[in-house]
Amino acid sequence: MDGEKVWDVKSASPYSYTQKFSKGYDNLKEDDPFGYVMQGHLYAEAKGMDFGGWIVVDKSSGEIQFVQAPDDQTEDRDHYISEAGKVVEALMSNFKYKKPPIDPVEETYTLDGVRTSTGNKLLNKNCTFCGYRKHCWPKAIQHEKVTSRAKNKPIVWYHTLKVRNYEDHGYQEDSRVTRKDSQAQR
Ligand code: SF4
Repeated sequence: MDGEKVWDVKSASPYSYTQKFSKGYDNLKEDDPFGYVMQGHLYAEAKGMDFGGWIVVDKSSGEIQFVQAPDDQTEDRDHYISEAGKVVEALMSNFKYKKPPIDPVEETYTLDGVRTSTGNKLLNKNCTFCGYRKHCWPKAIQHEKVTSRAKNKPIVWYHTLKVRNYEDHGYQEDSRVTRKDSQAQR
């Protein structure tokens, strides 16, 4: 708090520092899987002050940046408080989703401009970080990212994992024939 506004201090990875926070408040609002914007407005509401924004520290370099929330924030404040209220209400009730509200996403790769599905499905990014993941997706499993060509492939959450190796799916970097043959068989 600076006496007038509430500021949230965050430590961030170099990626998050440059690709998320550096792009400003509106950009964070667009893609905010951790709910930072709602969190900031709730802190500010609890203190009866405006939300100033974030003071962000790059964990690697030690650099610091200020990411300011807009001066006119009444609309956002009302929106986030209302949304938070709905979440609390749902959590306190016996309400049950017939199915989780966020769908898994198809896993695809693009070769020569053609986008192709592997047949696998990944959990939505929000679900991978969510504390209710086990509840919503009890059968989800972690596995190396099938479409990654990195030496050390990232581990991701799969909802459906039919194809475990890129090559099994027919994709081979040097062999388009193999890929086409594979597509023909499907
Ligand atoms: S895991 Fe979390 S984010 Fe995903 S659908 Fe369930 S409650 Fe929503």
